[in-house]
Amino acid sequence: MAVIQTNKSAMLYSEANQYTPGGVHTSIRNVDPHLIFTTADGAYIYDADGNRYIDYQAAFGPFVLGHRHPYVTEKVIEAIQRTDLFGVGTTDLEIRLSEKICRHVPSADMVLFCNSGSEATYHAIRLSRAVTGRRKLIKFQGCYHGWHDYVARNMLSAPDMIGKRDPGSAGMMDEAVDNTLVCTFNDLDDVEQTFKANPGEIAALIVEPIQHNIGCVLPQPGFLQGLRELCTQYGALLIFDEVITGFRHDIGGFQKVAGITPDLTTMGKAMANGFPIAAVAGKQSLMERFNTKPGGDVWFAGTYNGHAVGTAASIATLEMMERHNVHEYIFRLGERMRQGIRDIHQRLGIKAYVAGFGSVWTTYFLENEPRNYTDLMQNDAELYVAYRRKLLERGIFKLPMNIKRNHISFSHTEEDIDYTLQCIEDVLKELK
Ligand code: PLP
Repeated sequence: MAVIQTNKSAMLYSEANQYTPGGVHTSIRNVDPHLIFTTADGAYIYDADGNRYIDYQAAFGPFVLGHRHPYVTEKVIEAIQRTDLFGVGTTDLEIRLSEKICRHVPSADMVLFCNSGSEATYHAIRLSRAVTGRRKLIKFQGCYHGWHDYVARNMLSAPDMIGKRDPGSAGMMDEAVDNTLVCTFNDLDDVEQTFKANPGEIAALIVEPIQHNIGCVLPQPGFLQGLRELCTQYGALLIFDEVITGFRHDIGGFQKVAGITPDLTTMGKAMANGFPIAAVAGKQSLMERFNTKPGGDVWFAGTYNGHAVGTAASIATLEMMERHNVHEYIFRLGERMRQGIRDIHQRLGIKAYVAGFGSVWTTYFLENEPRNYTDLMQNDAELYVAYRRKLLERGIFKLPMNIKRNHISFSHTEEDIDYTLQCIEDVLKELK
């Protein structure tokens, strides 16, 4: 298999480094610096040298319909030919989108729009502090909820840093970092002990209902229900961060699948199939504390909130889900991929665990199902790097991090899955 040529990408990357620290505009993007992508279409992305890749990274998840989906593009163009952004009032697009979200997402009596998942989690946490009059927050090791000081800790920690302050936290307020307590996912005892040790101090517990920031660590039966009960018992708000799971696993989010209703929900990514918009939603009595309503005492603002591009894209994305069997299709392909990989592992005697839900899958080079971040410490990162490099040479794009997930979209085909499975088998045979 010939090594792919990426000369033009390399030239562009060296130019980017003159102007931008690390040559990229968000922290995890410089893991593959030799690749500069210039074109995207459906399930495929193309680099500056014209190489085509089947894209399973999906820009960390938004592309539930595929890149530049024609219906979404059409609706965005239609919207921006007549409107853009106003500094007062609301728009027909904002109202239509709010209605859809409140109709589909069980915890959403009311919703507010912002531009990124980080903003959404920031607002949800601040609201929780205002409502409860408490300061502390519980999060889980391995969950990511954005870049702000309240939550930017204990995501992909080195083994000796689990539960401690991570590298990359310089400049963050000690008070914010120290008031965020870190628990172990799928460990209700740990959560209960943390509540007990901080009586009357915990404002909220924030959780990705599936730990997708470390691949696909599923909540064990009873875990989410247990979190719901503990939050109610100790007077804290339960925040489901559905920035990844929302709209990807169901139009009503994973809360609908699991049958657990949080107090507040944050959404983003698949909400608008790659266009920038995010949301915080929840019970009316909580949401009306935001000062978008006169008399509200919790600040909520943003110049670009509710912009026509994001709202039109999100309406179109949800319309696609309402009118077509998007989830049925992507779930079927997801299951086919997971089962196909498991069969390959079995045929070749590879010790690996294929985790996933719906359209998402992760191959862990581990024997057993991981239940939390610490379980992933045994994952064979070196093997993953070689595996991923060989897949890249065959035109399959996965993230070069061994505990990240892959996504299937409505634009992927059965042939894409077959080709990918064939490549996985060939690569694993070479690596054996
Ligand atoms: N919450 C989760 C679960 C995420 O995965 C992310 C981003 O990856 C965020 C929040 C932050 O979203 P954004 O990058 O849009 O600020």
